Amino acid sequence: MNMNWPEPYRMALSLSFDIDAETLWLTRNPINYHHPVHVSRGRYSVKQGIPRILRMLEQEGVHATFFTPAWTAEHHPDVIKCIADCGHEISYHGYLHEVCDTCEEEDALMKKAEDIIRGITGRRPMGQRSPDGILHDFHLGLWQKRGYIYSSNWRNTDRPFIHTIHGKPVPIVELPKDSINDDTSYDMYTIQHPEHYYLKTGREMVGIWEEELDGLLEEKGYMNFVMHPQFIGHPGYVRALRQFIRYALDHQVWVTTDAAIARYLLVQNGFPEYAEPGEGEW
Ligand SMILES: [Zn+2]
Repeated sequence: MNMNWPEPYRMALSLSFDIDAETLWLTRNPINYHHPVHVSRGRYSVKQGIPRILRMLEQEGVHATFFTPAWTAEHHPDVIKCIADCGHEISYHGYLHEVCDTCEEEDALMKKAEDIIRGITGRRPMGQRSPDGILHDFHLGLWQKRGYIYSSNWRNTDRPFIHTIHGKPVPIVELPKDSINDDTSYDMYTIQHPEHYYLKTGREMVGIWEEELDGLLEEKGYMNFVMHPQFIGHPGYVRALRQFIRYALDHQVWVTTDAAIARYLLVQNGFPEYAEPGEGEW
């Protein structure tokens, strides 16, 4: 896998967010349909977390990827349009934060979600992060059929790689992730009864991320994130995230979207036709 980052960058980093919002509560336990207080914690994501994060990202001059269940887009179209209009990417994360068990059902679900996102932003998702990390044998072929250029699911490596089908490389880049770079390892305090409190401070969270970044800089590596605005969107955590972004930028790290990194790696690894997004793509 050729991974020569463009000059003057020493490594690459994707700031990616999962806007699970209310779906995180609705899919975990049906009782939450009748528990407005639990669901309102998801709504914090679109009401306060995302606007605060968008202001910070704009001030720091960086773009991010937002994996979005289409239900979230359907119920909060203004928020999704605002994210896209600010130059960020919207990517696939199910309809109601679910994964189907058959290829036909998943195909239909992806089409439904893509139509909703295209209707709001004018563009279709280019990448996929599976809700709860669930994948089936049919997924890779389905992504290829639907024109996806990256997946952000695997955890067996911290280096991107090109997927293969029957031993043959296909134009889908894996952008791996892991819980060490998932904010919920540090700041999640509730998802269903009973609540738990293992909170770390924002300084502790980004302290771990800065150490990880220092190590990856030595390897000219890649760092991906999973951040949830209903948790990391609180003022203290956004403040800490801003400090981390400044730390990365001060160390010549290429901070950009998942789609931009996937396209750059596809071009370097035998798929030059993916250099630029086509009409209606990211
Ligand atoms: Zn999610």
